[in-house]
Amino acid sequence: SMASPALLMRVVASAYSVAEKAATIVRNVMSAGDLGIVEKAGPNDLQTKADRLVQMSICASLARKFPKVTIIGEEELPNDDVTEDLIEDGLCEEILKKPCPAQYTGIKEEELVIWVDPLDGTKEYTEGLLDHVTVLIGIAYGGKAIAGVINQPYYNYEAGANAVLGRTIWGVLGVGAFGFQLTEAPAGKHIVVTTRSHSSALVNECISALKPDTVIRVGGAGNKIIQLIEGKASAYVFASPGCKKWDTCAPEAILHAVGGKITDIRGNSFQYNKEVKHMNSAGVLATLRNYDYYASRIPNTVKESLVP
Ligand code: AMP
Ligand code: MG
Ligand code: MG
Repeated sequence: SMASPALLMRVVASAYSVAEKAATIVRNVMSAGDLGIVEKAGPNDLQTKADRLVQMSICASLARKFPKVTIIGEEELPNDDVTEDLIEDGLCEEILKKPCPAQYTGIKEEELVIWVDPLDGTKEYTEGLLDHVTVLIGIAYGGKAIAGVINQPYYNYEAGANAVLGRTIWGVLGVGAFGFQLTEAPAGKHIVVTTRSHSSALVNECISALKPDTVIRVGGAGNKIIQLIEGKASAYVFASPGCKKWDTCAPEAILHAVGGKITDIRGNSFQYNKEVKHMNSAGVLATLRNYDYYASRIPNTVKESLVP
């Protein structure tokens, strides 16, 4: 008989199913109509009932299947018992069928760190910009993002009643990324995607220096990486602190799985070991192609304003 799939592939297969349940919770909270909004640091740093329920669902489901894995979620929640209806037990069969890259077959539970953003783009969720929202589950080993799942609960929500609502994108380094059509941005055009709700003078100064043809302002780190891999934007530029490790881990794994690159604004790669500082203090620069073009045009004054 076939050997049992490697731990990494079982974790990704579980994360896929867990993210699909998360998407159902995100949609159900919205249709029930009571978002239960709480301000964290201020009016641009929100938490809703969906952020809370989804984090409980994801973390408890993964912890039950993989008890020795370190799981770090965005939201600080009381250690209440999670109700059984929030637990997802499934494993995506398509993922279990893929071979695990040789360098990852020996990974043990204790060596994995899972970074969870239960709902990325919360501000936009509360404003009805529903396709900006994603659920992010990033998997790190040896301090590197090696696998990730991005669920977009409201993908296709304006495409009519016959369109399938929601999608799940997943990727593993050395395997590839799936659940979307990899598309290059238009050649010779500089389309920058950035924040819509966390702008600053420095954010705008950095974008101006790149002399973009177009600037797209949308919510969510997950959403912006989707813009890159689907050819809607050529660079994700955010010259500000504010973005955290759970925002970048899953997007990084998927972007790297298709040959893209993500760093802070100064060109440093991100670390995802469990001891690392959560804040990406020196911002984000990501591209599918032509990373060096954008990196070389970021002014030194902008770089020096951001301390890693
Ligand atoms: P944005 O591009 O503004 O949607 O930000 C991407 C991610 O980083 C989201 O999870 C935001 O909540 C987070 N983020 C960025 N800037 C800030 C900030 N100033 N305060 C709190 N969260 C932020
Ligand atoms: Mg987020
Ligand atoms: Mg969040």
